Amino acid sequence: VSALAPLGQQMAPYACQRRTPLLHSNQPLTEALETLAEDAGFSGSEGRSLAFTRAASVLKALPGRLSALEELGPLPGIGEHSRRVIQDVLEDGVSVEVERVKLSERYRTMKLFTKIFGVGVRTASRWYQEGLRTLVDLQERNTKLTRQQQAGLRHYEDLNTPVERGEAESIGRMVQEAVQRFLPGASVTLAGGFRRGKPHGHDVDLLLTHPEAGREAGLLSRVVSWLDSQGLILYQHSQENSFALHEGPEPPGGRDVLDRFERCFSIFRLEAQGRLGAARGWKAVRVDLVVAPVGQFPFALLGWTGSRHFERELRRFAGHERKMVLNSHTLYDTRLNLFLPAASEEEIFQHLGLEYVPPTQRNA
Ligand code: ATP
Ligand code: MN
Ligand code: MN
Repeated sequence: VSALAPLGQQMAPYACQRRTPLLHSNQPLTEALETLAEDAGFSGSEGRSLAFTRAASVLKALPGRLSALEELGPLPGIGEHSRRVIQDVLEDGVSVEVERVKLSERYRTMKLFTKIFGVGVRTASRWYQEGLRTLVDLQERNTKLTRQQQAGLRHYEDLNTPVERGEAESIGRMVQEAVQRFLPGASVTLAGGFRRGKPHGHDVDLLLTHPEAGREAGLLSRVVSWLDSQGLILYQHSQENSFALHEGPEPPGGRDVLDRFERCFSIFRLEAQGRLGAARGWKAVRVDLVVAPVGQFPFALLGWTGSRHFERELRRFAGHERKMVLNSHTLYDTRLNLFLPAASEEEIFQHLGLEYVPPTQRNA
């Protein structure tokens, strides 16, 4: 037995019971496991993908660098296959399996295609099967593209250049200014990875609300039209609010990730800041705008702060351990048959009987 008592001895089984900082000591291991998770997702093996993601997430929460497999002890959520990968990386610096995946034509092509805004695994996979391999192939073979995918392809390079925090903040201010024009007192909150402390991200997630319930209705379309009229929007598609409390809770597991807020998936045109993009003067940036009535705001904030895995684990914990249904709108107790209201994220954790995890510790 190693002198470093098992690192994972006190590791709680659900990611939402752990604190997971942005920076951790096992980067090479988590990268390898996440590559395999991604690759499994590319072939539609959701279960396998989740197993690798879970293992990676456990390693992210370890208090120190792992130097031997034995230090893990009987950790929850790390299966045989993941242990083998961890061992290979610890012993040889790389996993042959992971390196093979990264070089494979399928993985590389799937990665290239899924990085197009509006292209998911299914579309990318179909293109791959049709023999398409490059972005040029898509154009030359006149592949049918949605308006969203066309925009994604047009701005491919910009949209795959990380968004810096300063850029996210200036987009937040642009939206705040527009919001004030139409609904003074309304607020704009930066959620997503930036709220978890990430220095950059793939998009900007903004949550809009107003302290008086109902006043937020109709706000988004006015804000978007105005921004558009100012030439600040390169692409947008909006969705109306389709949430109705009287319908009761969503069945757990079903539409896990999606919520029904009024929202806008967009691409902003951001004027160059300093040296960034100075050659051209502007940069395309993906922005998600979501409007929540104030009573649902803490749930929306919790749901849109992520990480994706942290959210998934929160919902799994709520269902399995508490018989509650959590989504980005509400928390429903199926034993008491009632909704549990909350005025803050802290209160939601309290309802769930979980220790509060601040946003910067949700990088599961
Ligand atoms: P990145 O820096 O790559 O943007 P991120 O954590 O912000 O990282 P996003 O994809 O922007 O990743 O998602 C942020 C959070 O919003 C996630 O936790 C996810 O659960 C939630 N989310 C994203 N898309 C939707 C959606 N369509 N419906 C509901 N929730 C969503
Ligand atoms: Mn994001
Ligand atoms: Mn987003």
